[in-house]
Amino acid sequence: MEKREQLYAGKAKSIFGTDDPDHVIMLFRNDTSAFDGKRVEQLDRKGMVNNKFNAFIMTKLQEAGIPTHFVKQLSDTESLVKTMKMIPVECVVRNLAAGSLVRRLGVQEGLELNPPTFELFLKNDALGDPMVNEYHVQSFGWATAEQLARMKELTFKINAVLKDLFAAGNMLLVDFKVEFGIHKGEVILGDEFSPDGCRLWDKDTREKLDKDRFRQNLGNVVESYELVGQRLGLTF
Ligand code: UDP
Repeated sequence: MEKREQLYAGKAKSIFGTDDPDHVIMLFRNDTSAFDGKRVEQLDRKGMVNNKFNAFIMTKLQEAGIPTHFVKQLSDTESLVKTMKMIPVECVVRNLAAGSLVRRLGVQEGLELNPPTFELFLKNDALGDPMVNEYHVQSFGWATAEQLARMKELTFKINAVLKDLFAAGNMLLVDFKVEFGIHKGEVILGDEFSPDGCRLWDKDTREKLDKDRFRQNLGNVVESYELVGQRLGLTF
């Protein structure tokens, strides 16, 4: 597989073309952003940790029958993924209240949500990723009713798989964000799954082990991501 020109640079990852139009290379950088890109810092080792973490999670999800864009890890900071047309919508599931839900509804952080909630946000930094509903997704043509139903089904399945996986490492999966795309007509999971896009708390102490450490200036950001990986059996 030959690495070609950079096609796109996001806030934490860059995409490069290859000699095969069906595959691109995803590079995990050390850039860490919060507040819709308004704050960006470099965190040593984060690209490597998130690439390895993502490879591990994507493999687990694939084994559980969830179609993903992940093909294989290529290097410490690069993975080969399938080319997709991204659906510009973020799917969020919450098991416990945190973050924007707490701010929006004034509920207590950590409140158990039964059943877990499903929310949609438009990917648009300039607008601050506004919350949208299922009608917006269809009416503006971001996804069809069938694609949306599949996104929702897969997001809840991911929640079921990962809740158990993190529970085995004595962690609570508080909430997470996933993004989907279309590859050869099929809805598949894209982007990444790492502590940058989910909330994970220690089950006993409720210590935050995810990107809230960066958002809230709690320190030990990458060290916490590594600890999460180690609790799942990963070595970095
Ligand atoms: N999230 C994300 N990217 C975003 C917004 C949210 O990965 O642009 C993740 C976030 O890390 C958390 C979940 O989605 O795990 C729910 O985030 P929330 O709506 O509470 O927003 P935030 O507190 O990040 O503003």
